Amino acid sequence: MATQRMLDFLATRRPESPCLVVDLDVVQENYHAFEKALPDSKIFYAVKANPAPEILRLLASLGSCFDTASIAEIEMALNAGATPERISYGNTIKKERDIERAYALGIRLYAVDCMEEVEKVARAAPEARVFCRVLTDGRGAEWPLSRKFGCVPAMAVEVLRRAKALGLDPYGVSFHVGSQQMELAAWDSALADAQAVFAALAAEGILLKMVNMGGGFPTRYLRDVPAAQAYGQAIFTALRKHFGNRLPETIIEPGRGMVGNAGVIKSEIVLISRKSDDDELRWVYLDIGKFGGLAETMDEAIRYPIATGHDGGETAPCVLAGPTCDSADVLYEKAPYPLPLALTIGDEVLIEGTGAYTTTYASVAFNGFEPLKAYVI
Ligand SMILES: *Cc1c(COP(=O)(O)O)cnc(C)c1O
Repeated sequence: MATQRMLDFLATRRPESPCLVVDLDVVQENYHAFEKALPDSKIFYAVKANPAPEILRLLASLGSCFDTASIAEIEMALNAGATPERISYGNTIKKERDIERAYALGIRLYAVDCMEEVEKVARAAPEARVFCRVLTDGRGAEWPLSRKFGCVPAMAVEVLRRAKALGLDPYGVSFHVGSQQMELAAWDSALADAQAVFAALAAEGILLKMVNMGGGFPTRYLRDVPAAQAYGQAIFTALRKHFGNRLPETIIEPGRGMVGNAGVIKSEIVLISRKSDDDELRWVYLDIGKFGGLAETMDEAIRYPIATGHDGGETAPCVLAGPTCDSADVLYEKAPYPLPLALTIGDEVLIEGTGAYTTTYASVAFNGFEPLKAYVI
């Protein structure tokens, strides 16, 4: 939801549409909520969710660590004031020369999910800490991460054993339960898998130390979501259940949950039309679409709340689309979106909960449209 600071900024500055406005106070509140919900876990903000320098600087000053996926993201975190030991290279898919560059920048914590990658890390980042990512089924997530990342627990045991043999520090296990994860229980089965890897390696004298419990913490879109505190409790209970009194070090990597509700996009209605005279369904075209930053509407997965100046009036379902000349640039059609009948061309709307996964998803210049502008206040 738009905060008063966002509304004041939009009213006084009248920035050109479309644009994103991010309220740093909300990011700070979210950071403290995660700290409170999981006081024993270190927070590694997933930089990809929103790498605006102001956000990274704020989080660095609050003591956050950073999960990065590329040299550019590592450099952004360093420039924001994070020291190398507060940065993990969490992408399981890295060029060997990028691992070398990261190592030269002082990064000593790397993600792997197969033999081939652990061999690369051993060559390019000698003696570094590695954690192995295990697969999860992604059930309960509105933006699941599927089988692209991670391996089965039995293979994680082999990978970490190999890490040890290659002179690396086999440090732990990671997983990601899928983004916008609505099931508190999702962490339970992933932690069971992580514990199985710990136990198998402990039996051969390899003592892992850390579980990276990933992201997945949701942002409120159209439906209520459980609070960070509820996730914290469920996760702590699952940790106790699987690890007993010997709790490992833990880290979490919130992305969406850290910045999603900290942003709103101001957009303008470019066109409202129908496909025939007796067509009930209106087509509403915004000045932002899939290529302007709303890529997470792919498969209509993420459904953003949209506030208009006519809220409270009578509504009817619309097909909502972006302004570009690509027919894929339709946001909601399978499940039409209810919008006020009073809406007219030129009206401004606010697309809420858009602080995460928007600016960086915007195309460079498809159809000549500029990347999404952001104002961080
Ligand atoms: C994207 C990503 C995250 C953040 O996920 P959210 O669901 O946005 O919290 C965390 N960890 C890794 C490894 C990621 O790739």
